[in-house]
Amino acid sequence: TNLSTQLRNQTPLRCGRSLEMESQKPIMFDVEKFDDDFVQNLVYDALVWSSLHGLVVGDKTYQKSGKVPGVGMMHAPIALLPTPFPEIHWKQACDVAPIFNELVDRVSLDGKFIQDSLSRTKKVDIFTSRLLDIHSKMLESNKKEDIRLGLHRSDYMLDEETKSLLQIEMNTISSSFSGLGRLVSELHQSLLRSYGDHLGLDSERVPKNASTFQFADAMAKAWLEYNNPRAVIMVVVQPEERNIIVTIRKTLAEVENEGRVQEDGTLLVGGQEVALVYFRSGYSPTDYPSESEWNARLLIEQSSAVKCPSIAYHLTGTKKIQQELAKPGVLERFLDNKEDIAKLMKCFAGLWSLDDPEIVKKAIEKPELFVMKPQREGGGNNIYGDDVRENLLRLQKDGEEENAAYILMQRIFPKVSNMFLVREGVYHKDQAISELGVYGAYLRNKERVIVNEQSGYLMRTKVSSSNEGGVAAGFAVLDSIYLN
Ligand code: ADP
Ligand code: MG
Ligand code: MG
Repeated sequence: TNLSTQLRNQTPLRCGRSLEMESQKPIMFDVEKFDDDFVQNLVYDALVWSSLHGLVVGDKTYQKSGKVPGVGMMHAPIALLPTPFPEIHWKQACDVAPIFNELVDRVSLDGKFIQDSLSRTKKVDIFTSRLLDIHSKMLESNKKEDIRLGLHRSDYMLDEETKSLLQIEMNTISSSFSGLGRLVSELHQSLLRSYGDHLGLDSERVPKNASTFQFADAMAKAWLEYNNPRAVIMVVVQPEERNIIVTIRKTLAEVENEGRVQEDGTLLVGGQEVALVYFRSGYSPTDYPSESEWNARLLIEQSSAVKCPSIAYHLTGTKKIQQELAKPGVLERFLDNKEDIAKLMKCFAGLWSLDDPEIVKKAIEKPELFVMKPQREGGGNNIYGDDVRENLLRLQKDGEEENAAYILMQRIFPKVSNMFLVREGVYHKDQAISELGVYGAYLRNKERVIVNEQSGYLMRTKVSSSNEGGVAAGFAVLDSIYLN
């Protein structure tokens, strides 16, 4: 843009010449060599690009944000440069995406496995219990979902010590940032086209990322399968939703008020027939402040609209199911291909139920090597460090029932590097770690698989001192990858 060219001309790159002379090897990741003027130029260009291309989020400090579209926007929190990531692990993560999609689908069909795996969790976790109630009702009425749409994101960290790609979790509901993920990759590609020569870097090594289009395409195809040109897509949103999507948008409370299911299963909301319900809400207990929201969730589930996700897909994404699937011999129940099974096993980290006294003992001795997780989504719910010990000791005293609310997971330690993180127009150089999310889209109608593909990616980078990520929570920033 003209502005940024002007700025560049006014502020010569002081570090430029010496960098070029030094070596041909990429120096971009040696951030100590960057001088402030140079970084400021990059930041300036990044902010201009973000504003022009919609790499923006609602600004919570602005009162009308989230209520009036287009009002109160701020550039998204971003990493200034893409984070180096080994190509071999990138390929591995892409390779398993369709296998995980298939696994979710197979598990979702095994109602008994879902109910059994979560039967003890149900007794101590009221939220999971309510979801399971809806699931039971569907099983009792023998409700079948012919058209099944999954828009997933499987998250990984690269364990520094073992150099292995380990799955953090599989998200099957409200998988976030498929819209902004693509934009961050494009921002980084654009910055490297401008500054890449200077840095000895190639913009082509930031993988193409069509996450937005691939998810939209899978939704459009699900709508086609439903096969009624007058039917709409409904996005179930949180009140004051900050994710903006052009469709009909209803909160669960509104669905309860305006929705009904006809005898043939047709879902009508405000008189409009709904082909596909996309849940951008409904994954957290706070999304169900009253019985109205639960009624709405049940109503939707009972209808013949395509649900993304169905209650079975949703439950398949719980941490408890993740832990059950990692037990020896369990994947074999759902997948036939031995190679596929081996590929998934390879990215499973250590996962345990709290019924294993050996592991609990170990975790009390060395809590820093574990993460304790309840059945929750959305970040900020896990337990780390000394709190792991305290909670395990408390549970040992209080009896065994509540054990089933949690799982234990091996703590993964990714590489820590110095990175430039940009928030509210200002950059900080921080010690940071990254988590790669790979999107997967899956659509089938009965026996016909229509879509099963890796659908783009999102890197999230956070200061290494923070246990939990959370872009929305203000710890993590959006990022992309530079293949090396
Ligand atoms: P949620 O569904 O709430 O996102 P996650 O399992 O993804 O739950 O955990 C939230 C965050 O906690 C992750 O993004 C990651 O930063 C951190 N985390 C989770 N599991 C581990 C682990 N095994 N090792 C290290 N960090 C972890
Ligand atoms: Mg999650
Ligand atoms: Mg997560």
